[in-house]
Amino acid sequence: MPEAACYEVIVVGGGGAGLAAATAAQSGCKTLLVERRPALGGTTAISTGLISAAGTRAQRLAGIADDTPERHCDDMLSAGQAQAERNNAALTRLLAEEAPATVDWLAALGVTFGGPFPSPGASRDRMLVPLPNAGSYIFHLARAFRRAGGTLRLGAAVEDLIVEEGRVVGIVAEGRRITATRGVILASGDFSAHKALRHEYLPRYDAMPAINTHSVGTGFELGLKLGGEILNGDIVRAGQLRFPPPEGQGSLVTRLPPRRWLAEPMRLALKHLPKALLKPVTMPFLATYLTPDAALFREGAILLNAEGERFTDETKAPGLAVSRQPQGQAHIVFDARIAAHFDTPPNAICSAPGVAHAYLRDFRRYRGDLVTSAASPEALAQALGMPPERLSASLPEGWAAGPLYALGPVRPAISTTMGGLRVDENLRVLRADGGAIPGLFAAGSVGYGGLVIVGQGNNLGWAFTSGRRAGLNMARDERDI
Ligand SMILES: Cc1cc2nc3c(=O)[nH]c(=O)nc-3n(C[C@H](O)[C@H](O)[C@H](O)COP(=O)(O)OP(=O)(O)OC[C@H]3O[C@@H](n4cnc5c(N)ncnc54)[C@H](O)[C@@H]3O)c2cc1C
Repeated sequence: MPEAACYEVIVVGGGGAGLAAATAAQSGCKTLLVERRPALGGTTAISTGLISAAGTRAQRLAGIADDTPERHCDDMLSAGQAQAERNNAALTRLLAEEAPATVDWLAALGVTFGGPFPSPGASRDRMLVPLPNAGSYIFHLARAFRRAGGTLRLGAAVEDLIVEEGRVVGIVAEGRRITATRGVILASGDFSAHKALRHEYLPRYDAMPAINTHSVGTGFELGLKLGGEILNGDIVRAGQLRFPPPEGQGSLVTRLPPRRWLAEPMRLALKHLPKALLKPVTMPFLATYLTPDAALFREGAILLNAEGERFTDETKAPGLAVSRQPQGQAHIVFDARIAAHFDTPPNAICSAPGVAHAYLRDFRRYRGDLVTSAASPEALAQALGMPPERLSASLPEGWAAGPLYALGPVRPAISTTMGGLRVDENLRVLRADGGAIPGLFAAGSVGYGGLVIVGQGNNLGWAFTSGRRAGLNMARDERDI
């Protein structure tokens, strides 16, 4: 039976794209947001939060007057050159054009940004960081949605779509049918934790876990069932070695409330304080899923598995090899010379470009759980629970006298699958023949639509931009946009 309350729009998924879609839709029509988990956030909430846009207020305040969406678009197309024939250039252009309005909208809702910062492949400083963390997006979007009268349902997994005469007119969640007169927006994240889709498109990565084990790919299943098509399913952002975040609730700063009274002083500190004084503000980034710099391995650090064995050439993208080791993990091991090299600038072990760099001393201070020091190979083996003879046999010549250091574990994981349902510029889900499925929209990772996103801050740019655009279109009551 349909629920008594009837909605105009239903959004499936309460991460960045879904919250942006629901908040924008609620500006013009009665909207329900359904989230499978007990809390909002999805991958968006555990992300680093970086977002790139050209022509933002933040850039103007920083005196950057010559950045434009065209330049941003060109940068993205150049960075993605290797897969240019796979890329949807029209959606890349759309992302670049609408990202500044998206960022200004998020700022108007209360998100405080630090930056702009430089990022690899960007010809201007345009990358922003939400303060104090990515939870700020979720907090402010959810607040705006609630204040506008939107309805949230948490802990309810959408299982199916209701289709009448070829048009999507609602959802089935926890066995209940709920209708939507204007349509349904799929925003349920990527398929990095959907075993079958993973195996079909990315069999090499079968042994690699997803960072977000809740990215179960529902939107893909629902779209495919109605004749939708997955584009670029074999493209993935994966395999980087990652330090896991701290056990438990995370560091103090990842738990800071995303309020303006806290974010604003952080923003001013980022802008005005010398880098050394900024450590307490910037080091929280060490609590996220960080990737060690490949320079460690070029300098001679090695990877050892739980058996104390060296198993791969560390300088040649070792992620896949690590994922096939016991427990899918390894430790980075090095001697005193390498430790000294990475203890101070400019040799960072991890970086959030332009925002912060972390050296061995920062790991000791802020992530002591990841650092092991030992006077000898035997002591290191004992501390790491590895067989001492095997560990000793794996070490390069000259390391036997110690001291030795280990960082880890590192666990490669799938960050984001880049396959998305085929969509048009209004985020309508399209069948393989190009026809739209009436009443069905997709945003964020479900709606990549053939975009090959390269460059920092553009995935979130797409999540918020596509979500907002889909929601605004629905709010304008264009039943057949
Ligand atoms: C560690 C990490 C760091 C990252 N850092 C950055 C960064 O700094 N900048 C950047 O641009 N990108 C970054 N990314 C990528 C970026 O976070 C994602 O591309 C983006 O968050 C995707 O947003 P989304 O709304 O599509 O999905 P999500 O945020 O995952 O939201 C999907 C939501 O749908 C819900 N859901 C799933 N199935 C159902 C169902 N059946 N019914 C109801 N709800 C459902 C999920 O529980 C989830 O809440 C990072 C990714 C990772 C893993």
